Formats: sequence, C-alpha cells, structure tokens
Amino acid sequence: MSNLNPEITRRRTFAIISHPDAGKTTLTEKLLLFGGQIQVAGAVKSNKIKKTATSDWMEIEKQRGISVTTSVMEFDYDGYKVNILDTPGHQDFAEDTFRTLTAVDSAIIVVDSAKGVEAQTRKLMTVCRMRKTPVIIFVNKMDREGRDPFDLLDELEEELQIKVRPLSWPINQGQRFKGVYNLYEQRLNLYAADKQHITENVEIDIACEELENHIGAEDAQKLRDDLELVSGVYDDFDVNTYLSADVAPVFFGSALNNFGVKELLDCFVRIAPYPRAVVAEERTVNPEESKFTGFIFKITANIDPNHRSCIAFCKICSGRFLRNTPYLHVRQNKTLRFSSPTQFMAQRKSTIDEAWPGDIVGLPDNGIFKIGDTLTEGELLHFKGLPSFSPEMFKYIENADPMKTKQLNKGIEQLMDEGVAQMFTNQFNGRKIIGTVGQLQFEVIQYRLENEYGAKCRWEPIHLYKACWIDSDDPKELEKFKQRKYQYMAKDLEGRDVFLADSGYMLQMAQQDFEQIRFHFTSEF
Ligand code: GDP
Repeated sequence: MSNLNPEITRRRTFAIISHPDAGKTTLTEKLLLFGGQIQVAGAVKSNKIKKTATSDWMEIEKQRGISVTTSVMEFDYDGYKVNILDTPGHQDFAEDTFRTLTAVDSAIIVVDSAKGVEAQTRKLMTVCRMRKTPVIIFVNKMDREGRDPFDLLDELEEELQIKVRPLSWPINQGQRFKGVYNLYEQRLNLYAADKQHITENVEIDIACEELENHIGAEDAQKLRDDLELVSGVYDDFDVNTYLSADVAPVFFGSALNNFGVKELLDCFVRIAPYPRAVVAEERTVNPEESKFTGFIFKITANIDPNHRSCIAFCKICSGRFLRNTPYLHVRQNKTLRFSSPTQFMAQRKSTIDEAWPGDIVGLPDNGIFKIGDTLTEGELLHFKGLPSFSPEMFKYIENADPMKTKQLNKGIEQLMDEGVAQMFTNQFNGRKIIGTVGQLQFEVIQYRLENEYGAKCRWEPIHLYKACWIDSDDPKELEKFKQRKYQYMAKDLEGRDVFLADSGYMLQMAQQDFEQIRFHFTSEF
C-alpha cells in the first residue's frame, strides 16, 4: 500500500443506501457538515437538502420533492478525500441506485433501529453482495424506542446475509438513550441532555468504577454485561474481513441529533477501501496505472433547461484525468477533449483541471454517451459490471403527435442511453415496449420527452410479468423456443433475445419445459 500514489490511497468513494425514511439524507447532511461543505447544522430539513444540494436538478424532482438523479458530493476530511455518491431515495429509481453501486468502492447502509431491515435495504444489499462491496451499517434513530440491539444484529445477519460486528454499543435507547460505547476507539460517547451533540467523549476502562459516575450503576452493569456478550458472540474485528465483504461493522447513533456520526466517519475513512482494481472485458485495470481510464455510470437530465446538455458522470478507474486532453471514446472510436469537466460540491459545481481514481467527473454530454461507455488514452477497453436489471413494469409507447416522430425517436433513444428505462421491440407485432422498475419512470419519460424534445407520447397497457434475457448452448433448442413463444419474443436495444412472460406461472412453465434454455434476470451473464 505504501508504494501507491497517496492521491489514490486517500480517496474514499462510497454510497449511502437505505430504505426511504431510514435517515440517509440526514446522515449525508451531517457528513457534509463535518466536511465543511455546509455550515448550518440541523437547520436543513431532510427534504431541504434534496432541494439545495446538487442532487436536485430536474424540474420533476422539484415538483415531487424526491431525489431522481444521482449526484456526487465531495469533501476533504482529515487528509482524506471523500466522494459520496448520492442515490435516489425513491424505490422507482432503484435501477439508478444499482448502477451507482457499480461506481463505488464501499457503501454505508442506514437502518432504522425500530424498523430493522426493510425491502429496499434487502434489494440493495443483494447488489453489494454480488459485487463484494464492503459495507458498514449505521443503525439510526437510537433516540427513539427501537429494537433490542442483539435482536437487531441477528436480523441484519439473517436478512442481509452477511456477518456483522458491532463497533459501537448503545446504552439504552429512546428517552433513556445515554450514548454509545465506541468499541473501535474504546471510548464512551455520552449523549447530551439537550440531545444536540456529544457532551462528553471519555476514554474509559469499562471495568473501572468511573463508568458508574457517567451512566449510573444500573446502566454501567448492563453495558458491561452486554459488552461481554458481544465479545463472546462476535469475533474480534478484523479489518480484512470487512474489506473482503465478509463482515459488516455496525455503528449505532442518531443522525438527526448528530450523534455517532463523527465516530462513524472517523472509522470509515480509516478502514474503508481506496479505489480498487476494476475488471474490464479485456483485463483488470489497476488504479495506479499511469494511463487514464474511466467509465460512464450515470447520465443526468438537463441541469439548465435553456441549454440542451446533459451531464455524464465518469468514474476514474486509473491514471490521471486531465482537462483539455484527448481521450478515446471507445464505443464510438472518437477522440474527445473536455474543456469544462466538473466536480461537485454540496451546493455548487466547479471546473477541474485534473482528477484521480475514485473521483467522479461530470462531462458535458449532448447525446454522445451511453451508460457503460469507456474512455481511455487509446486502449480498446470495455468495463464490465453495469448490468440492466429485468424490469417489472411495462407499457407500450405510442406516438401522440405524428408531426414529431423524429423528435420522439431521438428522445426515446437518448433516454434509453441514459438508462432511464429499457426498450424492447416485440418481434410479433413490432410494437415498442418500455420496461421500468417503477411507475414514476413512465411519468419522467413522458415529461422529459415533452420538455426536452418537444415530443408527445402515449402509454398503452400491456400485461406482462417479467422480461428476461435468454440464451442456450443448444442453438436448435433456442430456435425451437423462439418459435414456440414467438408472440412473447422481443429484442432489446442491443439486439439480444428477450422473453416476455405474462405471468409467474408462464415463466415457471417455460423454465420447466425448456431445460436447455437459460433465463437471465440481469442483462449481464
Ligand atoms: P431518507 O428518506 O432515508 O433520506 O430519510 P431522511 O433523512 O429524509 O429522514 C426521514 C425522517 O426521519 C425525517 O423526518 C428525519 O428528520 C427523521 N430522522 C432522521 N434521523 C433521525 C434520528 O436519528 N432520530 C429521529 N428521531 N428521527 C430521525
């Protein structure tokens, strides 16, 4: 590690993920406070940050007050460069979050202490497990009555399918919440009576009598018992098991009260991984290689409605990215120079001259980029790991203004390149089907087609359960399947075969009847 470039080893690029309302926005805000990116503590209400921070670029987002786009917030802390990739809280944009997870080196999962593991947390953790992304769990809202911490830890292990290791331990909760014992730093962090910040942060031997003076005899005894049980039940914390994504360290706190957040951050910057090697189809790319490589994982809508320009988010994988330098856009085999690449701060963005592995740069995009595009200094590389997930909601898309056919087609094409949704063409009737993971995306598409492309679309219902990609080692069998199911066959934009199942039963039957056919639920197989 010591031989590596410190510009690389000091970078921490991660996402905060949670089920809506667990406290992701609040935690993000508090982290930004420590990073000096915003000054007002507490004054910023949870939805406010979505409005004022960079994550709120789209008009529709303002209207609805939910976070549609994914943006980046970066700050320096204690010598580290922290890049937080924001993810939309709304579950209809889960696909966006999945994609963002391909650009992070680690994640922090926020869990509500009363609600435990919720649906969205479970889904997002599946992606982290798939990619072996190290995760730290922050159990939030300890100022409220929640679950017994031991029960909660069991649930985390079971539901998230990962071993856990508490690195802090709560002393009561709700009204009686007194703070946490920080196992990582061996300190007692006491929760203030005014519940705004830590009054005392004491280094203490929990065996010594002084503990009683701080939290009273009863709680002192309970803490000692709990900690004994913790060390009996859980293995000693080994940072390598965290880095290999086998164990998730757990912290307890209250984001709203800014309690336990600094401890989380202090531990996080020390143990979280710096940018890792990234696998391309051709080879594995190491961050310390001298030549620049990067990939586009996200494209956002127009920031300024007067200018028809999107921003493509490029994750730097290796080398050093420089402004005004020719880079190869591999898919288009074109050389591009970027005169105004941007970096993102909580409330502004600024032009940068250089960026390092782990950083995210915003590149102006007038339709040249697609999700997954690779930029290099000339090497023909294709980064892997940007799967599309099989959508769950479907509608036929129809042209509602025949005078604007061209605009509509261009709009659809670009929105699909951005990864807003997926389009399939039914081989039987030639109609175009849009598949999404949530209802809201249909509204986003319609809104953006009208506002950005001057085109109108209309949705028509289609009853489908799932679209899945199919392939087989036996071409004859594949052909037979396609003939038998010709009404249900479609092509995706890359021309791959997609099977449109109209019910779970139909899918199950197809799987049973055609054992030689593989059914895939992500586009990468
Ligand atoms: P997100 O949807 O995950 O981004 O959640 P938010 O950060 O918007 O928080 C959801 C709600 O929980 C808001 O009303 C917050 O004020 C509240 N909240 C967040 N953290 C805490 C906490 O530590 N304690 C309590 N009591 N409420 C919290």
